[in-house]
Amino acid sequence: MQVKKEAKDTPVRYVKGVGPIKAGLFERIGILNVSDLFYYLPRRYEDRTRIVDIKDAKVGEAQGIVGTILKTNSFKARTGTYIFELQVGDENNKISAVWYNQPFMSKVLSKGERVVLYGKLDKDQHLVMTHPAYEVIDEETEEGTFSSLEVGRIVPFYSLTENLGQREIRKVVKEALSAYSSSLRDHLPTKIRARKKLVDSKFAVENIHFPHSEENLERAYKRLIFEEFFLLQVVMALRRNRIKGKGIKHEVKGSLLGDFESLFSFNLTSEQKKCIKEIEVDMAGEKPMYRLLQGDVGSGKTVVAMYALLLTCQNAHQGVLMAPTEILARQHYVTVSKTLMPLGVNVRLLVSGMDEKGKETVREEISKGEADIVIGTHALIQEGVLFKDLGLVVIDEEHRFGVDQRKILRKKGTSSDVLVMTATPIPRSLVLTFFGDMDTSTLEEKPAGRESISTWWANEEKREDIYSFVRDEVKKGRQAFIVCPRIKKTGSMELRSAEAEYEHLKNDIFKDLRLALIHGRMKTEEKDNIMESFRRGEYDILVATTVVEVGVDIPNVSVMLVEHAERYGLAQLHQLRGRIGRGRHASYCILLGRAETDSSIERLEAISNTTDGFEIAQKDLDIRGPGELLGTRQSGLPELKFGNIARDFSIMEEARLEAFSLVKEDPDLVMGQNTGVKAALLEMFKGKLKI
Ligand code: ADP
Ligand code: MG
Repeated sequence: MQVKKEAKDTPVRYVKGVGPIKAGLFERIGILNVSDLFYYLPRRYEDRTRIVDIKDAKVGEAQGIVGTILKTNSFKARTGTYIFELQVGDENNKISAVWYNQPFMSKVLSKGERVVLYGKLDKDQHLVMTHPAYEVIDEETEEGTFSSLEVGRIVPFYSLTENLGQREIRKVVKEALSAYSSSLRDHLPTKIRARKKLVDSKFAVENIHFPHSEENLERAYKRLIFEEFFLLQVVMALRRNRIKGKGIKHEVKGSLLGDFESLFSFNLTSEQKKCIKEIEVDMAGEKPMYRLLQGDVGSGKTVVAMYALLLTCQNAHQGVLMAPTEILARQHYVTVSKTLMPLGVNVRLLVSGMDEKGKETVREEISKGEADIVIGTHALIQEGVLFKDLGLVVIDEEHRFGVDQRKILRKKGTSSDVLVMTATPIPRSLVLTFFGDMDTSTLEEKPAGRESISTWWANEEKREDIYSFVRDEVKKGRQAFIVCPRIKKTGSMELRSAEAEYEHLKNDIFKDLRLALIHGRMKTEEKDNIMESFRRGEYDILVATTVVEVGVDIPNVSVMLVEHAERYGLAQLHQLRGRIGRGRHASYCILLGRAETDSSIERLEAISNTTDGFEIAQKDLDIRGPGELLGTRQSGLPELKFGNIARDFSIMEEARLEAFSLVKEDPDLVMGQNTGVKAALLEMFKGKLKI
């Protein structure tokens, strides 16, 4: 469908008072057309509605005054500062205003003109406002009714760029609004707007910039936030519809769960059973499963996934488990094959580290249906592996959401069931906002009997003590991770790099201990070898970058020291910490860092005080927003322009209900005003969306 050009697509240079040169300045702040101007949100507002008589003006307060300019004066002070000053008022009451280094002001304001000045009133020798906001009242406007952009109203403040000031932007926005806002189309169906008591888009856009009152500003925002969530949720609803259609009906045979449980030395937790049940229902059902399984590190997701894999094998289908890295794929392979081999399930590994012949053999086994379960990296499995009969895809995303990978998978057109695992607990608000097309299962609690992890943060002064603590743990037979933010020393940055730390620690601090180094720029094979040796206990301390963040499971490690901890996000620290406390030993996570800002202190406190991943995720969401938590920068999820998930959750829920019921009624968006919704989506996703 072709989107029709509208007035709001008009390039900004055609707005009155802009022209080609100024258009270039606007382009620098991302404004190309009228629509960009409309949605260029003020950073803040200032209430300049209070205008008083000069005689009532109060020293120390901000206020507006109206008066005639009695005299002006401009001169250069001895210091070289250019000064422009003026006086407004009558014989009895006078107020001065002064501008420093703004010589052009003498051309803007002149004697005899009536002006409004707005600013804080100070008193030294006389009453004075420094750099007040100002507006000339022209002769025609009646006193008291001047329609100013600068004073006597709630005034917007925008992000600026060089040579483009607040006054200028305000003027241009105002021009654009008066010329084009009437032609704005409203994408929200009238019915929904009425039900939700939302203002129309013209009102919203006008009041975002020049609100007549606080209430109107609020109503304007609410409307835009609702619209944003609504459109996103329509997408979710459409996707969910597309997944419908015929899937594989897995049959659950009587004793499968019992047989499965008897494979372990422990009992499944009630949380695991709950999730297994939810997955079972989906897999047995007609339509393909599309489910998110979330749970903190160590909550037992892999066990749940293994059950789902077993279920598909029992039904004579194949299952695949895709991991984000080769180390993880190998680790999963060891676990899954060890567990399920006794039941006669053929488990195969497919990673790039294998030789060509080995890979070819596995591919053949897959296509002939001789391999029941295949475990490999995302990349390798998507590269032309042909399954004979794929029943279930499990995607272990650890903590980064590879949304694209899921898309590719769906494009392959499998009707297989899909289970996505994530170790970043995602607050419900986020799940519904960005993953509203999936069903979710959550492991709320970890299996009992884990040794606890103590976390504390410290600064440089404690370094000696920390090193001797690490040494003590090693003496007890434990191992340690030391995590650095960089591989190499770069430039003037005083960041500890893994390479430099490794040399220093090995030669100066822990001469008698066995140290190894691992980082992301090493060859996969080399990394695997080091990891394996470390796992076997051949090293005491592993100096690493965040490569250890991803899923590595070595029960004997009891200490993790994180250098420059203030540089990490909460979710990431939590992930790192999840690498320890996996065995029977009490574990310690030590965060070394200079907490300088409030937010870094807040983060380090938060991570030290709780090990509950959901609490941490919520905190991370509050502090840094959804982009950082989900790694959306990489994953291509849409960024929210108006809405804030934490703040506006209830609006999101309302929008979601409306969106889902609209799509249910009209899945192709062809009825009445729904075509407007469709047009809005097409424009929003610029052709990336198929409806
Ligand atoms: P996740 O994938 O969520 O990080 P795993 O499934 O790898 O967690 O489980 C972490 C560890 O806990 C594994 O060593 C696993 O064997 C063990 N485990 C899983 N479920 C239970 C349980 N119900 N009781 C005790 N230990 C369990
Ligand atoms: Mg895991």
